[in-house]
Amino acid sequence: MQALLRFFSGYRPYFVLGGILFLFLSCNQNRRVKVYEVPNEVQPFVSSFIIEASKRGKRLIVDDLIITYKYNIFTSQVQAAGLCRRRFGHTPIIYIDTTTVNWKASKMAREQLVFHELCHCILDRGHKKDTLDNGNYASIMKPSGEVLYGDVLSKYKRDYYIDEIFNPNTSAPVWSFVDERYYEKYNRDTLYYENFKPAVTDSLLSNNKLIDTAVYDSIHYKDWSLGQNKIVRRWVQNGRLELETYQKGTYYIPFYYHIPTNENFEIRVKMMIVGNKKGQMALYWGGSSSKDAFVFQVNESGIISIGQVGKGMASVNSKLSINKSFYNELTIRKVDAFYYFYLNGQFIDNLMFEPFKGDLLGVGISGDATELWVNNILISHIYTGDSTQLTTIEKELP
Ligand SMILES: [Zn+2]
Repeated sequence: MQALLRFFSGYRPYFVLGGILFLFLSCNQNRRVKVYEVPNEVQPFVSSFIIEASKRGKRLIVDDLIITYKYNIFTSQVQAAGLCRRRFGHTPIIYIDTTTVNWKASKMAREQLVFHELCHCILDRGHKKDTLDNGNYASIMKPSGEVLYGDVLSKYKRDYYIDEIFNPNTSAPVWSFVDERYYEKYNRDTLYYENFKPAVTDSLLSNNKLIDTAVYDSIHYKDWSLGQNKIVRRWVQNGRLELETYQKGTYYIPFYYHIPTNENFEIRVKMMIVGNKKGQMALYWGGSSSKDAFVFQVNESGIISIGQVGKGMASVNSKLSINKSFYNELTIRKVDAFYYFYLNGQFIDNLMFEPFKGDLLGVGISGDATELWVNNILISHIYTGDSTQLTTIEKELP
């Protein structure tokens, strides 16, 4: 050893120093006591990670790991919900920010955050930006914070993503191959249509005279519940439904229509967040109340979340710019076992159809004080059997 040092010292002191440090660290590591400190709230996800590995024939021993909470984690000047820190000779540390949406949104979102960090810290995996044919990320090791699956509508995707954790060469799942593009238009029957214009009766029409059935001090306009208080204003005027909020929160306006779900259908709504206001505009459907309704929501940056609030949503960064001075079109198309979601005619995601809990639909907004305008709502029965006959599909009612 002395001879070796002397031999190198004249030539490459830097390397010699490195050599000494290396020896020191390796000895230190051999004697180092393993540390295992994981908060009770996070432990179920670590256990589940080990179980999922063993289901796939991988035996993981996780006995040297620290998971701790940390707020405002910044890495490369980007705020992160979690971070894995590994240093030679030290116990790997995972930091989790429990104030982020990725932790708070749902159990499924938490699972994805913890699994992602465990992939870094336990499996030594790096980030993977690949996408599948339908635009979804190919791996839970994506570099950004989208939630790939939730408990509602998107749960069927979970198996693939867990397989991919333990075998990055897992082939693309069948559901990622989608040919359901927006331009494939079907014959359809209108089931429900609302354009927020005054109702016209036949007898009045024959007199060539329109009458506005809205009585602005009453609470009904074509069955919409309207009204105003200090917190929120729900109103119909100038051919649009307006929902304005004066404080932070989630507000919606429900309506009811029985959609026969044994047939294929489409729900299409035109809406926008007005001016420079921000928030998430939302379309609800299939619920018995707002709590169990499915929701399709879009924020001002084009981040789209679909699922059920609180039970787990999947989220997609559409990378589309959201119209602020004219209406955006949100479309939900149900074709057989799947839903296809579109924003302004762009395909967003395909999720699995799940039975309705009721006939409630609605439009809503959440975030700080904001304002939503809705221009029209169209629910159609679509005939997928004869899509070659492109006839009366775009007929708009008065
Ligand atoms: Zn990462």
